[in-house]
Amino acid sequence: MSCNNLFTYEIIAQETPYIKRNCSKCKTNTEFYCSEKFRVNANQKIVDIWLIYNCIRCEGTWNYPILSRVNINKIDSMLIQKFMNNDKETIWYYAFQINKLRKLCNDVNTDIRYELRKERLDSQSNEVTIKLCYKYDFGLRIDKLIAEIFGISRSKVNKLSQNGTILLNPNMNMKSKVIDNLQITVIDDWYKVDALTT
Ligand SMILES: [Zn+2]
Repeated sequence: MSCNNLFTYEIIAQETPYIKRNCSKCKTNTEFYCSEKFRVNANQKIVDIWLIYNCIRCEGTWNYPILSRVNINKIDSMLIQKFMNNDKETIWYYAFQINKLRKLCNDVNTDIRYELRKERLDSQSNEVTIKLCYKYDFGLRIDKLIAEIFGISRSKVNKLSQNGTILLNPNMNMKSKVIDNLQITVIDDWYKVDALTT
């Protein structure tokens, strides 16, 4: 049982975003996937780190620069180990730097597969709050997510938001992007008949 009618829903990315850029090998504007590997180059004390992407057509590589010509003494030794060991969490941290990637690429495809891990809503009350846990930000829109959670259309989401049935904390526009720890409060019990309780 959860306290105070607060339930946690976790948005779990199943893959890293694809990027789009010109492949120098197959000479097309095409998609690249993240290889989930770093390339670490150390020359004396000067270190370069890239995250390797591969062309979906020819496996040609593009290296996303993470650190360029940095003195090794200035990098946390734990972080160096993570680069060397291709630590997944570190790789995903960089692979989800969508704004930075957009500047270096023609586009970033954020339409990725994700899983919504729902805590069962067993509230007796007519008001529930869902707290979102959203570790890797891929630009998901709030209205799209709420429509998915409740199995309703986006226009219904907007209607319920306008009449105060669905509230966001912090108070954000429904068309904004989801942020970690966003809370969605539903005041009414219409949701009980929907997919939520299953
Ligand atoms: Zn290619």
